[in-house]
Amino acid sequence: MLILHSPAHAAHAPAFEFFRGERVPCFETPARAAFVLQALQAGGHELQGPDTDSTRVLSQVHSARYLAFLETAWAQWLALDAAHAVRQPFPSVWPVRSLRSDLEPDNFIARLGLYSMDNGSPLSAGTWAAAKAGADLAVSAAGRLSRGAAAVFCLTRPPGHHAGADFMGGYCFINNAAVAAQALREQGCQRVAVLDVDYHHGNGTQSIFYERADVLTLSLHGDPRTEYPFYLGHADETGAGPGQGCNLNLPLPAGTATGAWFDALDTACVRIEAARSDALVVSLGLDTFAGDPISTFRLQAEDFVGLGTRLKRLARPTLFVLEGGYAASELGSNAACVLGGFEQG
Ligand SMILES: [Zn+2]
Repeated sequence: MLILHSPAHAAHAPAFEFFRGERVPCFETPARAAFVLQALQAGGHELQGPDTDSTRVLSQVHSARYLAFLETAWAQWLALDAAHAVRQPFPSVWPVRSLRSDLEPDNFIARLGLYSMDNGSPLSAGTWAAAKAGADLAVSAAGRLSRGAAAVFCLTRPPGHHAGADFMGGYCFINNAAVAAQALREQGCQRVAVLDVDYHHGNGTQSIFYERADVLTLSLHGDPRTEYPFYLGHADETGAGPGQGCNLNLPLPAGTATGAWFDALDTACVRIEAARSDALVVSLGLDTFAGDPISTFRLQAEDFVGLGTRLKRLARPTLFVLEGGYAASELGSNAACVLGGFEQG
């Protein structure tokens, strides 16, 4: 399978995040992509860089003021104090219910809060460069599919599926899956399906397309009553307006094992076929793995082969984007299992 990759991802390398009240080393590291790259190269997959700039498609997916903030956020942080070069900014105040989000505050930390759903998206000097490179890969991959490729895997990080139209969250800044889906639409696909198999609900992807009938969004994930992102991902969220009926959430209890997970996958696949989607974007999170340090599902390596096989049976042009997965050393082999299952399926 064709793998699209850019070394620019490594520019995003924050040192710390907050976890259960403690400042801890980041789970989302450049090593994740390095493990995947190593495993896919060892598997003989073809590797190429991006060939298309994503700027125009980005403006269809994210708000102009959010993109302007994200592109300059680190420079703004440094402008406050040169000593910030070795410190990370974190939001500490958010415009929740009854507070205004239409006005952009002058205060940097207040702006950071305005454009964040949590304090789980640490910024670093290279965040924009890495996130933009991921979007370039997504648009480039859509181009490859429209020119006849059967499947493309975007080896991207930071991940994207928690990022909404105007906010970052959960390690995500730019929604690569949404960018890919939008690019596919603009390249002539009439109906695109975005299937999110990450452990965590793809809240950003859902919200970006929630009122659209041209992009079907489906997610199987840990039940948001107990699992991040908590405030979206319930079964009764089915779309709105023209998009009514075009969102399918399949929340599963923490601790879900292989059988129930594949039943949910099958339900999603049946929906994709019924919707006659003509291209498939897969938000490929691998934090459903039993060994993942921050998740509770119990998939084994061989189950990822089964996932690839099931997706291949959908028989649609397929664009994979890498999302979560924090058992870094097994991330590469698990990704290779999905692609192997797909190619042999
Ligand atoms: Zn995840």
